[in-house]
Amino acid sequence: MRLILLGLPGAGKGTQAKVLAAKQGLLHISTGDMFREAAAEGTALGKQAQEFMSAGKLVPDEVTIGMLLERIAKPDARVGLMLDGFPRTIPQAEALDRALAEQGSKIDAVLYIKVPEADLVGRLTGRWSCSQCGAIYHMLTKPPKAAGVCDECGGALSQRADDQPATVKARLDTNRAWTEQLAEFYGKQGKLHDIDGTGEPEEITERLLQAIARVTATG
Ligand code: AMP
Repeated sequence: MRLILLGLPGAGKGTQAKVLAAKQGLLHISTGDMFREAAAEGTALGKQAQEFMSAGKLVPDEVTIGMLLERIAKPDARVGLMLDGFPRTIPQAEALDRALAEQGSKIDAVLYIKVPEADLVGRLTGRWSCSQCGAIYHMLTKPPKAAGVCDECGGALSQRADDQPATVKARLDTNRAWTEQLAEFYGKQGKLHDIDGTGEPEEITERLLQAIARVTATG
């Protein structure tokens, strides 16, 4: 099974993608995580991506598509995919469709997690994550036991440059445009499933699992 999670920043895509990938035995691929890792390692790719990320802009298609196609060509991607943060442009979606067709596979469903935009701003500016293990915290809904310290591994918590208030607005504006375009693209393919993204994370996971079960039953 090959799935795409769609949703504006703060909709819970990353959290849900990890849970769903584990439950369904799929490989979770987050292009945002890949870029952040590359930036932390200081590779040429990372340095290139960092400029765009801190400005709240998309990394150019040729860079992003190359990185993603290389990743899904690896043997461990054969178990199935849970794509999180990719595609973000129509050329990315088209390149993905072509690459999967060459492998004799396809995207089975696109799950679009929808959350009212006012809620997103509150969610985004409170998000902190561990610089060592990647655990995610939220100052409103899931604060760490000790300020600035990861409960899991004791690592230092930091706020992603693109979760800081000044960047959040620009990020939402950029994201709204491409998210709607992709929803339309996959809607035309009959693959789009809208998921209510309000409520507790467990409820949202349940709605996503129900949508996946419906796809499996009809597919
Ligand atoms: P994310 O963690 O998914 O919000 O991604 C963080 C940042 O990485 C984005 O704001 C973009 O700058 C970059 N990025 C991640 N995925 C893509 C993509 N598919 N296309 C272009 N840029 C991306």
